[in-house]
Amino acid sequence: MAVDASAAITGSHGEANLYHLKVLGLEEAYETMHENEKEDGYRVKCRSSPPNALAISRYIQAPVMPPNGATALSNDAFSQVPATLKPEGTVKVGFIENGLPHTRPPATIWFPEFMVKDKSFSATFLHECIHLHQRANKKKWNDFYKRYWEFEPWTGAIPKEVEERRRINPDTMRQPFYIWRGQWIPVLVFERPGAADLKSCRLLWVEPSGAWQHVPPPGWEQFFGTVNGSICEHPHEMAAYFLSDNENPFDSPAANSLRREFLL
Ligand SMILES: [Zn+2]
Repeated sequence: MAVDASAAITGSHGEANLYHLKVLGLEEAYETMHENEKEDGYRVKCRSSPPNALAISRYIQAPVMPPNGATALSNDAFSQVPATLKPEGTVKVGFIENGLPHTRPPATIWFPEFMVKDKSFSATFLHECIHLHQRANKKKWNDFYKRYWEFEPWTGAIPKEVEERRRINPDTMRQPFYIWRGQWIPVLVFERPGAADLKSCRLLWVEPSGAWQHVPPPGWEQFFGTVNGSICEHPHEMAAYFLSDNENPFDSPAANSLRREFLL
C-alpha cells in the first residue's frame, strides 16, 4: 500500500512489506534455477560458445542445501544493505557447490557454499544485491551512467574474434556492452580460450571501428581510478565494486559521484 511504502522508505515501520529475503531450501533452489534459466537462458548461451562452455564445466553449479548459519548470515548481510540499494520485493538466496557468486533474474543471488565461511560474505552480499537493484532499476542506472560517467549502452557490432573469446557474465548479459565517451567499449575476454577459466580473463578496449587495445584509454584512470582490469568490464561491475568496499572507500571522481547519487 502506498502509505506503508512511504513509511518504509523513511525507515519507520513496514519495511518488511517492501523488502523480503528468502534463503532457498534444496527443492526451492532447483525450481528457482529453472525459473532463472527460462528468463535469461544463461546456460544455454554458454553451451553455444566453446570457451564459455568449457569455463562453466570446471565448476559444479548445482544447488545444495543452505550450509549451517547461511540464513542468519544472509539476514544480517541483507539488513546492512542501504535502503537506497535494496531491490523491492523478494530477494532469493541460493547456494551452489562451487563457482563464482552471481545473480540471475528476476532477483536471485547464488553463492558457492564455501562463501559462508568467508570474512567478506557481507561485502559480497552487498555487491550482488546491487546487481539486483540494477536489474530492477535499469533506467535509473542508465541515466546515472550517461550523466555522470559518460557511459551509454552499445548495441553496435563487436569484432567476431573478440566476441568469440568473450566471457559471458550473468550479471550483465541483458546489456553486455557500454561505450565510454562515444569511443571505447570494454570487453572481458578469456586469457586462453582453449583452456578457458572464469577466473582467468583480460580486458580489451574495443572501438566502433573494430580496432582494440589492451591499455586503458586516455583519461580513464584519472576518472575511474586505478582499478583491477576485470572490474572495468562493465559499469554495473564498477558500480557494485565501488559501493561495496566500505572499509576502503574508493577515491575517484567516478566513485564519489556514485556515492553521492546512491548512498544519500
Ligand atoms: Zn559483480
